Amino acid sequence: ETILSIRNLTANVDDTPILKGVNLEINAGEVHAIMGRNGSGKSTLSKIIAGHPDYEVTGGEIIYQGESILDKEPNERANSGIFLAFQYPLAIPGVSNLDFMRVAYNAKRKYQGLEEIDTFDFEDLIEEKLEVVKMNPSFLERSLNEGFSGGEKKRNEILQMALLDPTLTILDEIDSGLDIDALRIVSDGVNQLKTPEKGYLVITHYQRLLDYIEPDIIHVMKDGEIITSGGKELALELESRGYDFLDDKSTAGV
Ligand code: ADP
Ligand code: MG
Ligand code: MG
Repeated sequence: ETILSIRNLTANVDDTPILKGVNLEINAGEVHAIMGRNGSGKSTLSKIIAGHPDYEVTGGEIIYQGESILDKEPNERANSGIFLAFQYPLAIPGVSNLDFMRVAYNAKRKYQGLEEIDTFDFEDLIEEKLEVVKMNPSFLERSLNEGFSGGEKKRNEILQMALLDPTLTILDEIDSGLDIDALRIVSDGVNQLKTPEKGYLVITHYQRLLDYIEPDIIHVMKDGEIITSGGKELALELESRGYDFLDDKSTAGV
């Protein structure tokens, strides 16, 4: 079963073309990684899938669970199971993490035609999820992301993912700024939550994340296109030779 199918996607920001024909297909149970130099368009792709308003899709299609999502609002995409963990999570002063999670969880339930969850049931549910990311319950009382360390923000993203149980999870540079312990916790969380019905897109500039979250397929993005795809060996090649070797490849027509 195909979860996400992106065909010839082109997109602009302020009339400048950023994506220049992206093709990507993610099937249920698959973990895909996108690697590439800074500025190659990785975050743009993830934000466009989530429906970020800064980007104008100029051509192509994004099909999620058999339906085009290009006309759908970001919240509708989120409620239908697309989850994007942001590269730089926002701080929302005054909104407790617990409140935020409950609102997000109930929005999804409402979309599914379900009633709001009882407050006590929600607390039980979230406590269960806290264990996955090894977070202290006091974390829930704090304002969303206010004063969270880099590692705490990332863990919180995984907590949100655990709670919302998305069909398509996109992790954009979830590894940036994490020390090895935090990276391990975050990756363990993702690995524990992985199921054969779901699809995953893991975006990273560095190879090391892929030691922890093992992808089935690795893609390399360059100048707004996926220029090559492969298995684990591709990540190893990138690690030992850097992104430069792809320049030779692309001039050779790959
Ligand atoms: P990556 O995530 O691979 O580092 P990005 O998708 O962030 O790359 O950026 C790709 C290109 O698009 C860069 O040249 C970047 O400057 C540009 N870009 C992305 N988002 C915006 C934006 N909101 N406004 C202007 N330029 C942008
Ligand atoms: Mg970048
Ligand atoms: Mg980026």
